[in-house]
Amino acid sequence: MPQGTLFIVSAPSGAGKTSLVRELIESLDGLKVSVSHTTRPRREGEVDGVNYHFVDRETFESMIEQGEFFEYAQVFDNLYGTSRSAVEHLLNAGQDVILEIDWQGARQVRARFPDAVSVFILPPSREELERRLAGRGTDQHAVIAARMHEAISEMSHHHEYDYLVINDDFTTALRELQSLVIAQRLSQAQAGERLAPLLQTLLSEEPRVE
Ligand code: GDP
Ligand code: ADP
Ligand code: 5GP
Repeated sequence: MPQGTLFIVSAPSGAGKTSLVRELIESLDGLKVSVSHTTRPRREGEVDGVNYHFVDRETFESMIEQGEFFEYAQVFDNLYGTSRSAVEHLLNAGQDVILEIDWQGARQVRARFPDAVSVFILPPSREELERRLAGRGTDQHAVIAARMHEAISEMSHHHEYDYLVINDDFTTALRELQSLVIAQRLSQAQAGERLAPLLQTLLSEEPRVE
């Protein structure tokens, strides 16, 4: 079975990455998002095993020691990581997989998986980013200020990514992300293997008609 594509999606906190990825996987078949492990406290409305696997620091550190992470990084004061077995299982089943990870994690993934396709999502302005962070209503004032500060450092890594998408109008940004996934599926690397049986019959020299 052909292996799926690994997509990396990064963005400063509040740019709309989670909302866009949620809609993206609902709109396309064969695309799954990897559920990360984190030591961050659960926000209201978040569900363990759906948004994240919420674990304590001790558990996370023992997972690091056991080599269970495909990548991991410290973001703000928390640890975030992608489970190796979960991602490999999905890719080997031919699924495309999205990793919603920060720039440090993106670097680790690219080093191991040069074929990964990476996308950076930008907000339309600084003011709008701040509005969205506050408007989400899930973080304390001090947390929002810290995330705004981190946002600038995260955005400074935009040039390390293959594609840039601006999340101004949500529907437009979603359409752009869908286009990226579809274009990747039509690339020689992905389509060639899937279409091998068809190409074999199309290119066969044997006459089919008497
Ligand atoms: P939000 O992006 O504001 O919703 O905040 P989160 O707490 O969900 O994510 C915080 C940061 O951690 C973001 O930069 C994510 O991209 C990053 N992140 C989340 N999961 C992972 C992961 O598994 N690995 C890495 N390296 N970063 C992650
Ligand atoms: P992230 O995962 O990048 O931190 P979220 O998906 O949680 O971001 O989005 C942050 C907030 O911004 C949410 O309240 C979301 O509903 C809102 N939002 C996302 N995209 C847009 C958009 N294009 N226009 C207006 N608000 C948006
Ligand atoms: P939040 O705490 O708002 O959910 O996420 C904060 C940041 O952590 C986001 O930028 C998100 O992309 C990043 N993040 C979430 N999961 C992972 C992960 O598994 N690995 C890495 N490296 N970063 C992650």
